Amino acid sequence: MATERLYDADHYLKAFTARVLGFRDGGVLLDRTAFYAEAGGQAGDTGVLGGERVVDTKIDEDGVIVHIMEGQPGFKVGDVVEGVIDWERRYRIMRLHTASHIMEYYLWRHYGYMRRTGSFVDEKKDRADYVHEDRLDPDTLEKVESDTNRFLAEGHPVTIEVDDMGMRHWSCGPVEMLCAGTHVRNTSEIGAVKLKRKNPGRGEERVETSLAE
Ligand SMILES: [Zn+2]
Repeated sequence: MATERLYDADHYLKAFTARVLGFRDGGVLLDRTAFYAEAGGQAGDTGVLGGERVVDTKIDEDGVIVHIMEGQPGFKVGDVVEGVIDWERRYRIMRLHTASHIMEYYLWRHYGYMRRTGSFVDEKKDRADYVHEDRLDPDTLEKVESDTNRFLAEGHPVTIEVDDMGMRHWSCGPVEMLCAGTHVRNTSEIGAVKLKRKNPGRGEERVETSLAE
């Protein structure tokens, strides 16, 4: 049975209690969790579960979330355990994830639409790959960065609406997309970002977004 995702209802939930349902491949299965499971290019959460370290969080095709533990847990099936996510790390991910959607809006505004082939965000940076034959010229990328930072500083609210199909529609100002990741409530929480161009090859360009602090 799919794990209840407490993070869907509250992206800011840091601690929770849950019942242990079982163990699988060095991981713990719970009835519900606030640990974000790696999906949609967002890294899985780390933290503490029942006093023991969670080093990653994954989800299978049936929606069962697996908390990957550092060691052999001391608790057993049926126990109620407390989970606490590494909030500082997750909050950085939320800030970077939200910023990356705004960055992409201005990227397309300045360079024209480029198909995104992949993306991944963790606490250090967001990286997004786009199909683009030419080198992203640095002057234009600077404009993308300054437009993004101006927009973030303006303090735009983020809204998420869930439709009848359970799809999560993310929007902020003029930007709209389907996204099930975790985000901040307002762009003013993000601060400024820095953009860096990388070339992963094969007619693709990568934009790395990091927090400018
Ligand atoms: Zn998102």
